[in-house]
Amino acid sequence: MDSKVTYDIIIVGAGIAGLTAGIYAGRASKKTLILEGSTYGGQIINTPDVQNFPGESHISGAGLMSKVYAQAKDCGAEIEFENVEKIQRGDDGIFVVHASDENYYAKTIIIASGTRNRKMNIEREDDFMGHGVSFCATCDGSLYRNAAVAVYGGGNSSISEASYLTSIAKKVYLIHRRDELRASGTAVEDFMACQNSELILNSTIAELKGSDKLESIVLNTPHGKRELQVAALFIAIGREASIDYIDGLDKDPDGYVIAGEDCQTNIPGVFVAGDIRTKNVRQLVTAASDGAIAVNSALAYMRSAD
Ligand code: NAP
Repeated sequence: MDSKVTYDIIIVGAGIAGLTAGIYAGRASKKTLILEGSTYGGQIINTPDVQNFPGESHISGAGLMSKVYAQAKDCGAEIEFENVEKIQRGDDGIFVVHASDENYYAKTIIIASGTRNRKMNIEREDDFMGHGVSFCATCDGSLYRNAAVAVYGGGNSSISEASYLTSIAKKVYLIHRRDELRASGTAVEDFMACQNSELILNSTIAELKGSDKLESIVLNTPHGKRELQVAALFIAIGREASIDYIDGLDKDPDGYVIAGEDCQTNIPGVFVAGDIRTKNVRQLVTAASDGAIAVNSALAYMRSAD
């Protein structure tokens, strides 16, 4: 189906960057549509306690994002829950956004579709996904009450996931490939202080075992193989960039869309905001900042095109 209207700005993604862009575009009285393939809120919705968003000392990620979502709608941004499959520019300069249910039209595009969980890329990972293997302890941890579970990774997310699980599971293994964790702050000591925690360093996950659900994992350790009987494995080995719905974008070797602080990509009229942009600091506030700047750049582009 074809929508007949031409939007000033179509924003792909309803995380903090996309919703903030929606707030700014709506406040600038621009006809704005946000397209989101799954749930609004982005990756932060799985974080139980956000402590570093200005004005909020303690708030759940989901709680914070429901406020930002309501604010974007109040400011006039429209939101549709559809997957964006392809974006192309027509001969008239207008972008055609092919979404799962409908085609939409826009003068400018803001890409704010974020990053996705990095997989381990080992055998049976996909088979066990949802059957013991998960990317989200706060979503699925309660399924494994009083069981032994493992978390894989060494960054702040892995510690946050593992610490959360110590209050639910019988035993929590945190497995990291190097001899020291990347995670910072007191969270590491807090995790280590739990009686049911065990940190396993210098180890990688070699094998997943089980019939129709995960039953154990096999590690490569400096002392050889070690098998852990666990009902769940939570993967927290970072995120990666991937955009395949628009051709011709300049990206860095890791797949992040190249743009400076003005959020302008190499394609005129296409802007990028949030974690998918090349940048040094990926935080809620920097993603929100991008959302505002991308709209500002889109407004300037539309003025110059008039
Ligand atoms: P991250 O900091 O990139 O950490 C990813 C971890 O996974 C690293 O320890 C890395 O190992 C490991 N890893 C990467 N690829 C791997 C592979 N193929 N196999 C095995 N291990 C692999 O990611 P994150 O923990 O998701 O955090 C992302 C960002 O959000 C960070 O900036 C983080 O500080 C921030 N964050 C902050 C908080 C907070 O409370 N302040 C909470 C969560 C996240 P190496 O260390 O060996 O590279």
